[in-house]
Amino acid sequence: MHKKLFIPGPVDVREDVLAQMATPMIGHRTKDAVALQQRISEKLQQVMYTKNTILLSTSSGSGLMEGAVRCFTGKKAAVFSIGAFGERWYKMCLANGVPADIFRVELGQPTTPESVREVLATGEYDLVTITHNETATGIHNPIFEIADVLREFPDVISCVDAVSSLGGDYIPVDELGIDICITSSQKCLGLPPGLAIASVTDRAIEKAKTIPNRGLYFDYVELYNFVKDKPYQYPSTPSLAHMFALDYQLDRILAEGLPLRFARHREMAEIVRAWAAKNFAVYSNPDHLSVTVTCITNTRNIPFSALNSAMGERGYLLSNGYGALKDKTFRIAHMADTSVEDIREMLRNLDEVLLRWQS
Ligand SMILES: *Cc1c(COP(=O)(O)O)cnc(C)c1O
Repeated sequence: MHKKLFIPGPVDVREDVLAQMATPMIGHRTKDAVALQQRISEKLQQVMYTKNTILLSTSSGSGLMEGAVRCFTGKKAAVFSIGAFGERWYKMCLANGVPADIFRVELGQPTTPESVREVLATGEYDLVTITHNETATGIHNPIFEIADVLREFPDVISCVDAVSSLGGDYIPVDELGIDICITSSQKCLGLPPGLAIASVTDRAIEKAKTIPNRGLYFDYVELYNFVKDKPYQYPSTPSLAHMFALDYQLDRILAEGLPLRFARHREMAEIVRAWAAKNFAVYSNPDHLSVTVTCITNTRNIPFSALNSAMGERGYLLSNGYGALKDKTFRIAHMADTSVEDIREMLRNLDEVLLRWQS
């Protein structure tokens, strides 16, 4: 039996979207492939509220994250971490010999604009990484306020990890002035894993051209040149199957209407938070909660694996805690094409399952 996924990626993919992946192959240097990539890019520009160049990568989001720290760090990267995925940026820097410092907060708290100002004011850094939505703690950072601070440091290139929020949360890339905004296919966009997406500014590309040892597969300059000069091609052979599905799914997303899509995510989040507060406790700072995933403190010390297998018998899969919060919390994702009714039905089942642990 297929379990309905309430985990923060991969998400359930609609059958009509999945079916697009079975489209017969085309040559990746044909006019049809160019038109496909152009359509996708133009629709993604709408979803990201940007005129910046859209790059696609046949990899998960981590590929473009790793490429970004290699390509855009000249002096040193300032990694602002609010949990597991900030730690990942830092590990990528270390693994690639990219000079970096990490600035952590207590788990469940956001990055503060003041801390970003304080760190960048040292003049030591020319790249900053921000996690828009921390999937481990269910926090979404105050990106508008952080963006205001970043504008005070025009020489610093900004990289934003929007992997678990883009397509479910409002991220107006141009208004925010984000240089590189990265996401993956398998979260709020509602596709299978295997495709990463980034928007990139021309000024970031100009800077990257001055940086040696950028690698090749995840080199933003190489990806950019294939979009600009060829145009709309990919340096190697892309996952055309994902591209067919993305082209189709972006039409669905735009037909739903972005403001309505974001409102649906907020509504689902509010329902889950209210349920969590009533039955357990919401883990993170209540002023900065994610609209795509909720992290719940397991205040009743219910063995989560038993809870999740009981849910599994009813056809649902929830998520345990991540990293340091593995045993203390569990998570419910509310993203992509999940409906408010899906959430209510899952929570009704969860209520029934929980009767087993009523004292
Ligand atoms: C899932 C996730 C990633 C990793 O993305 P992959 O597509 O699995 O490489 C990075 N950052 C955040 C915030 C995520 O939720």
